[in-house]
Amino acid sequence: MDSEFDVVVGTRRRIRRSAPSYTRRYDHVDPMGAWALADESSEPVSDDVLSVIPTDPLWQPDRPAGDRTAALVADLIDDDEVDIDVSWHEAITVVDCGENLERIGCPHCGGSIDTAWWGDLLETHVADGFTTLAAKVPCCGADSSLDGLDFDWPCGFARFEIAVWNPGRGSFTDEELVRLANALGHPVRQVRAHI
Ligand SMILES: [Zn+2]
Repeated sequence: MDSEFDVVVGTRRRIRRSAPSYTRRYDHVDPMGAWALADESSEPVSDDVLSVIPTDPLWQPDRPAGDRTAALVADLIDDDEVDIDVSWHEAITVVDCGENLERIGCPHCGGSIDTAWWGDLLETHVADGFTTLAAKVPCCGADSSLDGLDFDWPCGFARFEIAVWNPGRGSFTDEELVRLANALGHPVRQVRAHI
């Protein structure tokens, strides 16, 4: 059955309805596969992406719940020109905030985590996702969950994501997030990325 939304299963690749299309941050693809890996010179424009994800990085909705929630997102955005991608990921996938990232705080020692460490981690896992969120943080060597780090702006990890490209509005309100959680059947959070 066709969906009015772009649905991507088992991969983090996002295909937009209108070309050029590309994934978050790292590589560019169009529906014909004509573009290959990232070429900075072909970066078309910067984008703002507003993503809604389940609070549990492992949790996935069934297809009707995902589509129902995406339909509510579309209602809240209320702009037919805005691209909305709906993704079910096989592996845990990072939903990072791109250039909005200012600081990563360590919940164990209170220090700042080198964002270069985080960047390297993203590069390593961008293709295949994460099999575990367990990590040893570089500041104090503590064993931590990546999902427990204090990202400013927020980042997340998920196996389901609704991504709104250039939404033309600010973050969802608390009341809107409650409605989205009710539609999804699971608590949600949002990530705002600039890429
Ligand atoms: Zn620390």
